Amino acid sequence: MTSFSPVDVQIPNSHFIGGKAFNRGEEMDVWRPSDGQAYASISVADLDLVDHAVENAWQAFQQSNWATQSPRDRAKVMKRWADLIEADVNVLAPLEAMGSTRPILAATQWDIPFCAEGIRFFAEFADKCGGEVIPTANGSLGMTITEPYGVVGAIAPWNFPLVMASWKIAPAMAAGNAVVLKPSEMTPFSVVRLAELAIEAGIPPGIFNVVQGDGRVGDAICRHPRISKVTFTGSTKTGALIMTACAQTGTKPVTLELGGKSPQLVFDDIKSIDKVARRIAAAITTNAGQVCVAGSRLLVQKGIADQLVSRISDIFTEMVSGPTWQSDVTMSPIISSRELDRIDGVVQRTVQQGGELFAGGGRLDEENRTFYKPTILTNVNMSMEAVHDEIFGPVLCVETFDSDDDALQLASHPSYGLSAGLHTADLNRAMRMVKALEAGTVWVNRYGRSWDFAIPTGGFKSSGIGKDLGRFAYEANQKTKSVLIDFSADEA
Ligand code: NAD
Repeated sequence: MTSFSPVDVQIPNSHFIGGKAFNRGEEMDVWRPSDGQAYASISVADLDLVDHAVENAWQAFQQSNWATQSPRDRAKVMKRWADLIEADVNVLAPLEAMGSTRPILAATQWDIPFCAEGIRFFAEFADKCGGEVIPTANGSLGMTITEPYGVVGAIAPWNFPLVMASWKIAPAMAAGNAVVLKPSEMTPFSVVRLAELAIEAGIPPGIFNVVQGDGRVGDAICRHPRISKVTFTGSTKTGALIMTACAQTGTKPVTLELGGKSPQLVFDDIKSIDKVARRIAAAITTNAGQVCVAGSRLLVQKGIADQLVSRISDIFTEMVSGPTWQSDVTMSPIISSRELDRIDGVVQRTVQQGGELFAGGGRLDEENRTFYKPTILTNVNMSMEAVHDEIFGPVLCVETFDSDDDALQLASHPSYGLSAGLHTADLNRAMRMVKALEAGTVWVNRYGRSWDFAIPTGGFKSSGIGKDLGRFAYEANQKTKSVLIDFSADEA
C-alpha cells in the first residue's frame, strides 16, 4: 500500500451488533492523530445499547452452533476470516493508518498480516487443546472437560487498535465464546471492518459485537451480569477499576495486560555497538514509544555508555516524521496534542530537577503539534517521574552501571514488571540475569514482538494478570469442569 489521501477513506458505522453496523447514541468527535483534525464521530452506547449487545451475544452463543459445532469446523471459519482480513489490506490498512498512530507502511506490512496470523494461531487450538484424563482409583474414570464461558467482554487500547483487539477476541472466539468488544474511543473504526469480515467468513451474527464509547461503556460491559469473563489491555489505573467492577459484579475472571517501564541492560562485551544502538533506538521509537513494552530505560555499562548513547542519538536523526498516510513515514505522531503536552511536561520537569537533555525534547516544530522529537534524558534516577512512570512517548532514560549486581539493582522497578532486554555476548551472564529479572518477558540480544505467537506475553506485578498469546491465552477463555465416573460393578 502506498501513500493515500485521508479524505478517500470510507468510515464504517459505529456499533456492530447482531451482524449489523449502525449508529445510535450521542455523537462524540474522533480526531486524526497525524493532523489533529476531527474526521468523524462515533455514537456513544448508552446502558440500554450495552445491554442489547450483551443479550444479543448471549442469544447467539446459545442458539447458533458456534460453541457446539465440531471444533475443527470452528477453526476453519476463523481461518477463512483471517484470509479475508489479509485480502482486505487495501481497505483495512488505510482505515487503521488514518485514524491511529500507525504509519501506512507499518499497517500494511505488520498490523494487518499480524492480526490475521494471530487469528489463525488461536483457531488452531480449537481442536487441539481440551481436557485431560486424571489418574483416579480403579473402578472410576476422572477427567476434565473444557467449556467456553459464554459472553466475554473485551476492552482494547488505542496504540495498536487491530492487533490489540485481535489478541483479545481471537482466543475467546476460538474457544467457542461470543464477544462484546469496546475499542478505544480514540481509534474506533477498524475493528468494525473486522466484524463485517467476520460475517462474510461465516461467523454467526451476534458472536462478535462492537460497541463504541469511553470508559463508562467499558465499565457497563464489565458490570453486565451476562458477561462471564473480561479481557483488557490498557493502563494499570484502568486495570484496577476493571478488576474492582468484576469483583463487585461476579466474581468474574479477568485477564489484564497493563503498563510497563521496561529496562534494557547493555554490557560492555557486546560485539557491535551499532547493532545494539539500532535495537535500542527501535525499541523506543516504534509507534513513537507508544508501546506497552517500549524499552524506555537504557541501563548501560560505564565503559561503552558515551559511544552507545551518541550512536542512538545519530540513529534518531534518520527517523522520518509525517502523516501516517505517507508511505515513507517511520516516526508516528503522538495520539493527541493533550498526550504530547503531558509527555513534554514530564521531560521539562525532569530537566528542571537536574536531568540532562542529550537529544530531542519538545515537539518537532510549532506547526506540528502532534509529533515529538525522539528524546534522550541522562543524569536521571528512579526518584524522578521520567524513570519511575510510564511516559508512553519516544523518551529514553539513560543510567549507567559498573557491575552485574548494580545493573540488576537499577533494573528493579517498584511496581512494573512487563518486559526487559539483555544485550551481552556472555551466555552465563545472560542466564543469570534472565533468572533474576522481574519481568513477564525477557528478550536476549533482540527486543520486541516477534511472529512467535506461541510465546505468551504478559506482565508481573502492576503490569498485569494472565497472558495474551500462547496456549495460556487460549486456556484462559475456557472453564474447566471436573468429572468423576464410578464404574465399579455394584454402583447405580
Ligand atoms: P486506557 O486504560 O486509558 O484505556 C484502555 C481502554 O479502557 C479504552 O478502551 C478505554 O475507553 C477503556 N476504559 C477506560 N476507563 C474504563 C473503565 N473504568 N472501565 C472499563 N474500561 C475503561 O489505556 P490507553 O491509553 O488506551 O492505552 C495505553 C495503555 O495501555 C498504556 O498504559 C500501555 O502500557 C497499555 N498497554 C498494555 C499492553 C500490554 O500488552 N501489556 C499493550 C498495549 C497497551
